[in-house]
Amino acid sequence: MIDSAEGKNMLQGKTVAFYTLGCKLNFSETSTIGRSFKEMGFETVKMTEKADIYVINTCSVTDQADKKCRQAIKKVIKTNPNAFVAVIGCYAQLKPKEILEIPGVNLVLGANEKFNIHKYIDHLEKNGTGDLQPCEVESVKDFHSSYSMGDRTRCFLKIQDGCNYFCTYCTIPYARGRSRNNSIADTVKQAEKVAAEGAKEIILTGVNIGDFGKSTNETFLDLIKELEKVDGIERFRISSIEPNLLSNEIIDFVAQSKKFVNHFHIPLQAGSNKVLKLMKRRYDRELFAQRIEKIKSLLPDAFIGVDVIAGSRGESEEDFNDAYKFINELPISQLHVFPYSERQGTKALEIKESVPVEERKRRAKMFQILSEKKLRAFYQEHLNEKLEVLFEGFNDNGKMYGFTENYIKVEIPYNQNLGNQLAKVQLKNINDKGNVNAELINAAEFSFKPII
Ligand code: SF4
Repeated sequence: MIDSAEGKNMLQGKTVAFYTLGCKLNFSETSTIGRSFKEMGFETVKMTEKADIYVINTCSVTDQADKKCRQAIKKVIKTNPNAFVAVIGCYAQLKPKEILEIPGVNLVLGANEKFNIHKYIDHLEKNGTGDLQPCEVESVKDFHSSYSMGDRTRCFLKIQDGCNYFCTYCTIPYARGRSRNNSIADTVKQAEKVAAEGAKEIILTGVNIGDFGKSTNETFLDLIKELEKVDGIERFRISSIEPNLLSNEIIDFVAQSKKFVNHFHIPLQAGSNKVLKLMKRRYDRELFAQRIEKIKSLLPDAFIGVDVIAGSRGESEEDFNDAYKFINELPISQLHVFPYSERQGTKALEIKESVPVEERKRRAKMFQILSEKKLRAFYQEHLNEKLEVLFEGFNDNGKMYGFTENYIKVEIPYNQNLGNQLAKVQLKNINDKGNVNAELINAAEFSFKPII
């Protein structure tokens, strides 16, 4: 283990590359681990470049995700046989031995140890067998603050980890442990740090963020009230929040907030009450519809993204058709569709009726088409409006992108003075890529700004 100054000196000038699979939470954690490598003297390089150590942060949300992780690990080892390869994340917690069996993997760390990775990298020597530091998920109790800065425009701030819900199809509680969080005071300090680094937008991220406060006797509502006061942050977005936890008080607060934007992401998962029950979700579809109605009554322009799983165990054709009709009638803006995937160790496997894989794909495709229709209709509704956009600094072949408060993806010709700036645009038309072309309203204001 590395703890001595001598050990740290040995790592000066070494290179590290990171690869992240899965959710925004993983991205925020990789960023935080990346900053600790920097403090040790490592230089971060791209995944495609030669590095002394590769850290792969994995996801295990579906079988497909596990497969992608194995492919990524093997690819790294094949192209860099002499590099030190460390694997962390949900797949590493759930199936550590499976990963260690891949020849060339040096280190597999469970959920407790991933933030201590620097202690295990020793002299970066590859040994034949690799090192496994697993942990029982019951012992995962610490909360590690994390945030990812990306291109400085938007920051994913981790406010909560773990979940106590144990929905029957989900492995996350087994991979990330019980629900926990930092105090409101410490979370606000993190947000202030992010503001000081120059980000203008924070996206609140976690596994079950509405559950914030479980371990500190506080509430999510109190947290967002305090975050609203953080200077320097112009926008906050609430990422995925369970419908039963998205209370009317939270919606009321967002509706009058100057910083929390009119964008919601709510996991429905099934549009039939029978399947919701089989999933052991904590609401029925009537409650879900009420939440949407409440949002739309106060914030008619709000963007509402909805997660849905197609072809879950026990979902008959009739259930699917009923769910499709229900979702079609909801005034939502986009669906995030996942075909159901069996996960080892989950209660859902006890449900006898299984939907054939091809049928799951067909149902997922139908939802996907519905989602495209809904997104287009949402964009269409807002054409010609004058809205504020936060632009990202990235130059994509002469184009740049940004989002309105209500999550419309806007495209304009690249202007180096606009990166990480809020600017008013008029929405013009939907282009081939599905983005909205727009015209800057106050173009002159951005002609002479210093390059940031
Ligand atoms: S709420 Fe359900 S689906 Fe979401 S992480 Fe918890 S157990 Fe998984």
